[in-house]
Amino acid sequence: MKVLRKAKQIFTSANPLIIENGSIVFDKDIIWIGKDEDLPSEYLKEAIRVFDVSNKVILPGFVDAHTHLVFYGNRVFEFILRLKGMDYLKIREIGGGILKSVRDTKSATKQEILKYVKKFIYKFIEYGTTTIEAKSGYGLDLETEIKILETINELNQKPLTIVPTFLAHDIPENKKKEEYVIELIEYLKVIKEMELAKFVDIFCEKGVFEIDESRKFLESARNLEFKLKMHTDEFYNIGGSRLGVELGATSIDHLNEIKEEDIEIISKSNVVCVLLPSTSFLLRKEKYPPARKLIDNNCIVALGTDFNPGTSFTQNMQFVILLSVILLKMTIEEAIISSTINSAKAIGMEDKVGSLEVGKYADILVFDFEDYNFLVYNSAINNLKYVFKNGKLLFSKS
Ligand SMILES: [Zn+2]
Repeated sequence: MKVLRKAKQIFTSANPLIIENGSIVFDKDIIWIGKDEDLPSEYLKEAIRVFDVSNKVILPGFVDAHTHLVFYGNRVFEFILRLKGMDYLKIREIGGGILKSVRDTKSATKQEILKYVKKFIYKFIEYGTTTIEAKSGYGLDLETEIKILETINELNQKPLTIVPTFLAHDIPENKKKEEYVIELIEYLKVIKEMELAKFVDIFCEKGVFEIDESRKFLESARNLEFKLKMHTDEFYNIGGSRLGVELGATSIDHLNEIKEEDIEIISKSNVVCVLLPSTSFLLRKEKYPPARKLIDNNCIVALGTDFNPGTSFTQNMQFVILLSVILLKMTIEEAIISSTINSAKAIGMEDKVGSLEVGKYADILVFDFEDYNFLVYNSAINNLKYVFKNGKLLFSKS
């Protein structure tokens, strides 16, 4: 049992939102939380370690609601070409794009991929992320998709909590789309049988999977009792978010191009809107998702890095929070809530992670400042002092 004592503020992402002069008692899970003056003395006797965190701020571990964790190789050359102004179609023509990552991931062994991805896991932890969602999608064929999903499952709880998603990401070069959608539906049955994924996701976008194809695929997934997610309304509005609401998706992600009428429909549902501002930022987009309108209309907004080798090669949720406040005009409180309890809702993990409450995982961040607003005010500086995951100290800075 460990005790963190006398934090200047605990930002709980629950009720009450902020505890001043707070303490937390935990094992793997949180045992007690409250004001230090109310801390029962028996905990201090039983504790094997007591940390004095006075003048520091405690937050729940960040939950990253959207990552493409498992791939091999990088696409830095493509990033450089894009900075020089080359468009995606041209990049694809000369061998870049998603299909470059598909080739690299296909040719690597599972052991090589595991070793490669572990480096990313440490980066997530260093910046305070303790739970992530991870998608497949750089295989496109069944064998490679299984290899990726097995890798995701193997990495779960070592030490990050990882929620696996099977993603229909793109259409292979040698396949007709209608035939591939039928094939994908067959993949779903195998993945269900092997229990490799909790969620199913599709890249519903003009020129990739259109509405009818997305509907067919997602309905099949729903019939197999997968929970649903969608990449949609990122470049064009083809009605993807409305389809997500209609099918009872857990989350709809990206949403740069949603309209007023979509927001009205979303606001009447429980679907979580996962916004990914680092992708828009790194693509030098001028248009960002309308976070303010979504929140003002009582939609549930969550955040993620969209960590992937092509458009958002970052594991840093603190960076996403900064962008959300400055570019998406979210308040700092909203950005933290969206990166903790709301992102936990986006991946169906709100019973275990995303807030500091008795019975939840002891996924706890301690920051070396006195006011949580410094998370954004002291911009792009990592002030993390400690990261605890399931009660275990994973990171500390002297
Ligand atoms: Zn994505």
